[in-house]
Amino acid sequence: MGVWQKEITLVLLLLFVSIIAGTITGHLIMLLFLIMLGIIIRMILQINQFEKWISTGGRGKYPKTTGIWEEIYYHVYRLKKQDKQRKKKLGKMVDQFRQSTEALPDAAIVLGINDEIDWANKAARDVFGLHQSDKGQRIPNLIRFPDFIRYLKLRNYKDSVILPSPVDNRIILEVRVIPYGAGLRLLLAQDITQLKKMERMRKDFVANVSHELRTPLTVLKGYLETLQDLDDEQSPLLTNSFKQMLGQTERMQHLVDDLLLLTKLETQQKKTHCVDVPALLSQVCAESDVLGNSPKRIQLTLESSAHIMGEEQELRSAFTNLVVNALKYSKADSLVKVRWFQEQGFITLAIEDNGEGIPKADIPRVTERFYRVETKRLIKVNGTGLGLAIVKHVLMRHEAHLVITSELHKGSCFSCHFPVKRICN
Ligand code: ADP
Repeated sequence: MGVWQKEITLVLLLLFVSIIAGTITGHLIMLLFLIMLGIIIRMILQINQFEKWISTGGRGKYPKTTGIWEEIYYHVYRLKKQDKQRKKKLGKMVDQFRQSTEALPDAAIVLGINDEIDWANKAARDVFGLHQSDKGQRIPNLIRFPDFIRYLKLRNYKDSVILPSPVDNRIILEVRVIPYGAGLRLLLAQDITQLKKMERMRKDFVANVSHELRTPLTVLKGYLETLQDLDDEQSPLLTNSFKQMLGQTERMQHLVDDLLLLTKLETQQKKTHCVDVPALLSQVCAESDVLGNSPKRIQLTLESSAHIMGEEQELRSAFTNLVVNALKYSKADSLVKVRWFQEQGFITLAIEDNGEGIPKADIPRVTERFYRVETKRLIKVNGTGLGLAIVKHVLMRHEAHLVITSELHKGSCFSCHFPVKRICN
């Protein structure tokens, strides 16, 4: 029999006995009243005992009792025991997490809703010069770099921000914020001093080598042109050799020029002014149209007269690369459409061709340095593989982005989207 059934049977039995006794003695109401009073007093005493036990945290074994109350005590005791075990497990996990993050070489700081420091590991305390007492302080008050403050305010955590360590400005840190939970964020900072050093060495090396190669190449080209002029074309081998050598020298010159331009884009400060893009595009298209064997292939549509803030030479170089590519990688008689228009918060240059297209897998890689798509072509197409890398850098310096859509054997469209805030006329 269940405890509830036992409890109900007991009450019914008491009522039954008191009804019989009451009928015999003639005091039925009185007896019923006393029995009910007894039951209520018993319940109050039980509740009182329970309240005393639970108010002291329900510690230890519960008091000895019977019936339904024993059942209630048992369930509460069991839940409390489970809760205690869970808390112990969680505490152990938190400790393990703290110990592992404490040992991390990267700085980690847990930020609260209002950018206040909830917790920081040892690396964070070392690299940002934080103290235990800084807990609860707002981080923008402690790390006062404008770029960092802007990054935190924007709350766009897809990117990272680079800043020097407030303790030692020779240490360069890459800081990234990762949101998690309800309004909490984890700030991670990685020491990228060595990486930056290597990057600078690579840039310097490429710039120096390219610069040093320029003069010998000009001399070589000069002599080759003279030899070609002197050639009486008696020996086809010699004539062909001069042609090949001149072709390769020019290719190397292009390579060196492109490398130098890339270095310039990476290292030089921007000098912007209002650039008349429609005029620039007219020039670029006219100059590029005469390069190939069949002219008048470019159809320029200027739907907008917008000028934009930028660096004219850089834009010229990017636009020329895109237009020349469209001509180079499509049939000699096919049309290339160049459009300048405003749409959906962007002012856009779209260059569309009906050429060989780019395989889907190669599209994300074509803007990498020296990346060229391996395609079997009837006629060899010359190139350095640096053109689109230059385009990407120029666009980055103009807060613009490149979108490439392409279908193999059908054609490609390269769109440069500039933010409308750059329009200046
Ligand atoms: P390259 O000097 O080889 O033209 P780019 O950086 O300009 O170097 O382009 C990289 C590669 O992207 C090219 O080698 C080519 O395979 C591909 N590509 C660029 N533009 C086009 C285009 N309009 N159509 C098809 N393929 C293209």
